[in-house]
Amino acid sequence: MAAQLADSQGAENSLMYELSRSYKIEAAHDLPHAPVGHKCRRLHGHSFLITVRVGGAIREPEGWVIDFGDIDAAFEPLMGELDHRYLNDVTGLSNPTSENLAAWIWARLEGELPSLKGIEVGETCRSRVLFNGPDEEDRG
Ligand SMILES: [Zn+2]
Repeated sequence: MAAQLADSQGAENSLMYELSRSYKIEAAHDLPHAPVGHKCRRLHGHSFLITVRVGGAIREPEGWVIDFGDIDAAFEPLMGELDHRYLNDVTGLSNPTSENLAAWIWARLEGELPSLKGIEVGETCRSRVLFNGPDEEDRG
């Protein structure tokens, strides 16, 4: 039975998929290390659109890579920490650029979502950052 399962997973489920789930966060920040006079040094807010990307092969018998509800469950604590907050006050986000926010979210989710592929942070409708995880060389 186990061998059959392994065979069928190897032969039939080798197609790889990428799923994404998005979350809206309203938050304020300022960027203390932006150049003097830069508008981002001033306190302002964004409706951040955070997209969590997960990859993998289809899992049987469900026929899906992951339950979207599992992504929701992993992200929920972060929503509590980020939504309607002043991001500079969040531990680890004293310089809350979208790049740093994406890496912060990655670090919080990678243990919960082993198939995590990327974190996208959209701070405006025209400006987004995609973080695909630390370089392999940097991983402990
Ligand atoms: Zn900003």
